[in-house]
Amino acid sequence: VDFGHAHFDHELEELGLLAETAGLQPVERIIVKRKVPDPALFIGSGKVEEIAALVQGHGASEVIFDQALSPAQQRNLERELKVAVYDRTFLILEIFAQRARSHEGKLQVELARLQYLSTRLVRRWSHLERQRGGIGARGGPGETQIELDRRMIGDAIKRVRERLVKVKKQRGTQRRQRQRNQVFNISLVGYTNAGKSSLFNALVKARAYSADQLFATLDTTTRQMYLQEAGTMVSLSDTVGFIRDLPHGLVEAFQATLQEAVDADLLLHVVDAANPNFPEQIGQVMRVLEEIDAAQIPQVLVFNKIDKLDDQQRPLRQLDHMEVQGRQLPRVFISAQSGEGLDALRQFLAQWVLEHRQLPD
Ligand code: GDP
Repeated sequence: VDFGHAHFDHELEELGLLAETAGLQPVERIIVKRKVPDPALFIGSGKVEEIAALVQGHGASEVIFDQALSPAQQRNLERELKVAVYDRTFLILEIFAQRARSHEGKLQVELARLQYLSTRLVRRWSHLERQRGGIGARGGPGETQIELDRRMIGDAIKRVRERLVKVKKQRGTQRRQRQRNQVFNISLVGYTNAGKSSLFNALVKARAYSADQLFATLDTTTRQMYLQEAGTMVSLSDTVGFIRDLPHGLVEAFQATLQEAVDADLLLHVVDAANPNFPEQIGQVMRVLEEIDAAQIPQVLVFNKIDKLDDQQRPLRQLDHMEVQGRQLPRVFISAQSGEGLDALRQFLAQWVLEHRQLPD
């Protein structure tokens, strides 16, 4: 639903990519223009009928909205459209659930899902209570059920939290170990699909998973990388992809994973230079960095995918600076795929390490 902002086409395209990432096959993209959402149906009833006809025509089994739906809107739409209706948060949670690989990642996703569920559950029940008009509500079967469901979810959240605390302790020990070894930490951050995993692979020549999907990486992968020009090893970490409007619960849930970025001495902020929407994406990444207290860490912009640019768009030099939120950030142009610019990037990193390395005391 386009509420009148500038980059809607891209957002819809991204929603399609999210759906594919979740294993769905988009068959139709519909833009509905509205000034404000309809409280009951989110969109107008005429549009709902139009969509219902499309759903039938395609034999589609899901309708996905780019924005967050209230539980009531979701229910009403499902009743009208006669298929499952999701919002973007649900889709993202689904993808995270499918992709988490480490123990910690799985626990974090479980926590985020339970939290999502608990807010919806509470709202849903209070809605039902209102409908009943309070008749026999107190102590009635409905209330018992709410209490039960609430308690079950509450207990589950508590259990997952406890297990997370244990896992985090272990992670903390590993980190201290690394700090004691005085290894220089470099973390890759960036909007999802910018090419972090590809760059990570190209730099360490390992094979981390990379695909034209959002969130190929959910858990941090760390590898050692030898920088010949500096004559030293550094540790390089690939982090979770950032995305526009990442559901807040998820940012929180992934703080431990993102913590890797916070602990870095240098951030490589990977940007998809071939995406016309890249300035917005840079802004989104900066916002997440602020949320996790990593905004002040030295940062290099790595403009990736320059192989996709035509001659006129191509940068004149491999290295320059760009102003982002009042800061002059160094910028390197590369293609993780063709390998162009990777030597310049390595040289830049080596230089940086040499300049910023603390000598052992
Ligand atoms: P991540 O989500 O940031 O980790 O992104 P990935 O590394 O998974 O890459 C996302 C998509 O972009 C994949 O289809 C990659 O093959 C593609 N890609 C990555 N780097 C380049 C590049 O330099 N040039 C081109 N043309 N495609 C790239």
